[in-house]
Amino acid sequence: MNPLIWLVLDSCRYDSFVRAAKPNFDAFAAASGAVVERRWSYASFTAPSHYAFLMGLTPHRSPMNVLASEVYRSQFEQWSERLGVERLDFGSFLPHLSLPRVLKGLGYRTIGRVSLPVLNEATLISSHFDDYRLMADHADFAGMLREIDFSPGPGLQSTFHFLNLGETHYPYRMGAELPRLSGVHGTLRHMGDPAADDSRRPAFAPAALKAMHDQQSRCVENVDLLFAQLLERCPRGTHVIITADHGELFGEDGYFGHGPIMHPLVFEVPFLEGRVR
Ligand SMILES: [Zn+2]
Repeated sequence: MNPLIWLVLDSCRYDSFVRAAKPNFDAFAAASGAVVERRWSYASFTAPSHYAFLMGLTPHRSPMNVLASEVYRSQFEQWSERLGVERLDFGSFLPHLSLPRVLKGLGYRTIGRVSLPVLNEATLISSHFDDYRLMADHADFAGMLREIDFSPGPGLQSTFHFLNLGETHYPYRMGAELPRLSGVHGTLRHMGDPAADDSRRPAFAPAALKAMHDQQSRCVENVDLLFAQLLERCPRGTHVIITADHGELFGEDGYFGHGPIMHPLVFEVPFLEGRVR
């Protein structure tokens, strides 16, 4: 059974990922015969999107002229190939509809490390993991790598690491504090709060929004450097999924952030998967 790593670059827009200088992700894609796909998230904000992931559903391609139920069926069946195990299908996921539960049943040790407080240990998202923890720091992929351990443990055969990375989430931090973007931090902090006057004030300077969008790509570049360290430590045959839980709006059509937004850019996410050779 192939070890499995699922990396979620929280809030990372498709274009922020694609345009970043990311030699390690690109080399992994090339070695896997894969490309970075433009896919669609099932949800526009963190918790429901992760719930879908942990049901076993990756971001979809929005195929036309096919029954939606057939798309679900196909998504569940793809786990056989990813894991290198005999036939898995929708029935294998019933009744719990939980990827970590299915993996535990197969003999995986299941490990979750998350960066966003809405995914903390007390939430449903943590269900069926053997070892699940909210990281103390919002942007600590490096810390996750320091403790990563691919030994399955007694009586088990493989490992599943589910890693939610906060680096690409606002405020797009790379270990050091960003220079303050005047007028934007405060407004976004209160976004969605009807009591905060700032939330409805269009005080978004285009240059500041562009700087934030650019900074998200710089954060992808930082994650890419750490991804090289991850690959060095992965056992051969490890299956790796790299994606995002939703996109982010930087002022397009009057929208900012993610969540209560109906806009293609909040659902558009990068998707890449392949095997460590
Ligand atoms: Zn998120």
